[in-house]
Amino acid sequence: MARTKNLTGMKFGRLTVIGRNGSTKYGAAIWRCRCECGKEVDVRGYHLTDGTTQSCGCFNREVLKAINRQKNTIHGDSMSGKYHRLYMVWSNMKDRCLNPNSPIYPLYGGRGIDICAEWNDYQNFKRWAISTGYDPSAPRGSCTLDRIDCDKGYSPDNCRWVNMKIQASNRRSGRSSTGQWTKAQQSDDKKGAAPSDGNTEDSKINETRSV
Ligand SMILES: [Zn+2]
Repeated sequence: MARTKNLTGMKFGRLTVIGRNGSTKYGAAIWRCRCECGKEVDVRGYHLTDGTTQSCGCFNREVLKAINRQKNTIHGDSMSGKYHRLYMVWSNMKDRCLNPNSPIYPLYGGRGIDICAEWNDYQNFKRWAISTGYDPSAPRGSCTLDRIDCDKGYSPDNCRWVNMKIQASNRRSGRSSTGQWTKAQQSDDKKGAAPSDGNTEDSKINETRSV
C-alpha cells in the first residue's frame, strides 16, 4: 500500500478523525470519524483531505432544509395566506412581460416593458413591496402596483403602490400624451375588465387593471 498519512486527531469540517478503520478493496484508507452532531461515520481518506466530506451528512441535510424552507415560503405565498395577493401581482407581472402566450403580452413584454433582474426573485419583490408600503390587508383597489412612467418597465425606481383613483388619472394622462398609448390603453382596460384575466378573486390587487 502506498504511504498513508495518519489522519487521526485531525479535523475536517465537522468531522474529527478517531482512527483508521481498514481500507477499501482498492487500498484507499478508511477513517472512522466523529461528527460534531455525535454520529460516527467511516470516510475515505481522500474524501476528507480533498474536502468532499465534511460531516456525517448532517450539514447537507441542514442546507437542504433551509432551501426547502425558503421554497415553502414562496410556495406558501403562492397558495394562500397574507401575501397571496402580492404573489399573484408578481406572478401576473412576470406573465405579461415574459410569457409570449399571455393574451396581454403584446401590451407589455411585446412592447419592451420588462422587469428588472432583481425582481425575477419573488423575495426581492416582496421585500421592496413591504418596504414601500404595500398593505396586504388593504381593501380592494386601494393598493395596486403602478408604474410611474408607462413606457418604462417594472423596477423599484419606476413603481409605487397607489389606489385605483390615482391609477385611473395616470391612465388618462397617459392617453392624452401619445396616440400610440391610446390604443394600447384602451385594449388594456378591456382586458382588465374581463374576469378571465388574472386571477379572479385576487384581481383586487392586480396590476392587469392598471397601465
Ligand atoms: Zn453530523
